[in-house]
Amino acid sequence: MSDAPSPELFDKIVNLCKRRGFVFPSAEIYGGFRSTYDYGPMGVLLLRNVKNSWWRSMVQLRHDVVGLDAAILGPPKIWEASGHLANFTDPLVDCKSCQSRWRLDKLEDPDVCPNCGARGQFTEPRAFNLMFKTHAGPVEGSGHEVYLRPETAQGMFVNFANVLNTSRKRPPFGIAQIGKSFRNEITPGNFVFRTREFEQMEMEFFVPPDDADQWYEYWCAERYQWYLDLGMPEELLRLRPHGADELSHYSSATSDVEFLFPWGWDELEGIANRGNYDLTQHQTHSGEKLEYFDQASGERYLPHVIEPAAGATRTAMAFLLAAYHEIEVRGERRTVLRLHHRIAPYQAAVLPLSKKEDLVEPSRAVHRILAEHWMVDYDETQSIGKRYARQDETGTPFCVTYDFDSLEDGAVTVRERDSMEQERVSIDRLVAYLGERLV
Ligand code: ATP
Repeated sequence: MSDAPSPELFDKIVNLCKRRGFVFPSAEIYGGFRSTYDYGPMGVLLLRNVKNSWWRSMVQLRHDVVGLDAAILGPPKIWEASGHLANFTDPLVDCKSCQSRWRLDKLEDPDVCPNCGARGQFTEPRAFNLMFKTHAGPVEGSGHEVYLRPETAQGMFVNFANVLNTSRKRPPFGIAQIGKSFRNEITPGNFVFRTREFEQMEMEFFVPPDDADQWYEYWCAERYQWYLDLGMPEELLRLRPHGADELSHYSSATSDVEFLFPWGWDELEGIANRGNYDLTQHQTHSGEKLEYFDQASGERYLPHVIEPAAGATRTAMAFLLAAYHEIEVRGERRTVLRLHHRIAPYQAAVLPLSKKEDLVEPSRAVHRILAEHWMVDYDETQSIGKRYARQDETGTPFCVTYDFDSLEDGAVTVRERDSMEQERVSIDRLVAYLGERLV
């Protein structure tokens, strides 16, 4: 059973991320760029694995979902139709006492400044639009404005007819997309939890109107299970239905998948029953018919939409927090990331027992065999104990050691991360052996 993540754990994760190359503060050699991060050699693998696991479950293993990769830059018309230009705002208040700026809806007490403790010193809330605006081409000014998308979802709505006409899918079917989104957050923070540039994994599932409630329930269960299947402990995860006061005007039901972060329960993903709001808006604003004609029933209708919308960067951080364990080995305190093998940056590491040339060459050959199948690290520095510890710290499930006996018996020692058990495996059987354990 894992403990609820503590504030100390949060510091340890931030520290580990920097030390082991998961996440670096962006533009660090220039003093950093606030709340913006770069994913290092470990982080890029972790993040890619989170996204691949989502894609596998949402697209690859299904017959009813197709993928999309839409543009990040978009004309104002899209955001007028979606309601983002008018409504994608946060209520902003300034403290008159210390000049700090806050999101009113995120304050514990709407009267008290968390920075200086002043009571009743906030300005009236102002609506602050979260979209990043820029201009396309050499001329600035009206008519040339474009926006960086604040969510990937609109790409699916504006391409609904294109996908329908080209993919032979019909409701119920989904369009899935993973990509960067941008929001000019007033209060970014908690490391990569809330940043201005982040990655989303979103899917719009188009269904006949009468089936929407049933599909909403289906996707809530399905998405919750995804986190559990990837090793998220049940006690750190919950599905929380929104109260009536939290729902957007077009949504008849929304639930959040929440993780128990060191500061409390917070959102990883929202699953919303959006009705036909988005397609109606785009149909009205574009003048293009977006109805679906069901030849079987002769019915023409605007599909309703169930949207599971998750954050990839935020979820990667939650996996790190959940996986972090400290263990004692021969009186020494060590860190182990018990990441699911699909999420771990490397699935295996090949470690020659010594740096001697007669071990290095065949070890590299073993690495090449395994690298055809998985991301496999290769490390010949330091003692074998230290190398095991380094691999544990970044969550590598299997270490493969090539020693002097290997030259004779054509076998290697495979060490499993969590049990630390070791087994001698013939190199001929190694791919099959690991394949059974890395499914
Ligand atoms: P919040 O209430 O935390 O601002 P939201 O409800 O506006 O989030 P959605 O618009 O539903 O978020 O976006 C879907 C998912 O995208 C979120 O559940 C989250 O995982 C991720 N996400 C949204 N904003 C950010 C951000 N600024 N940084 C990192 N991830 C984000």
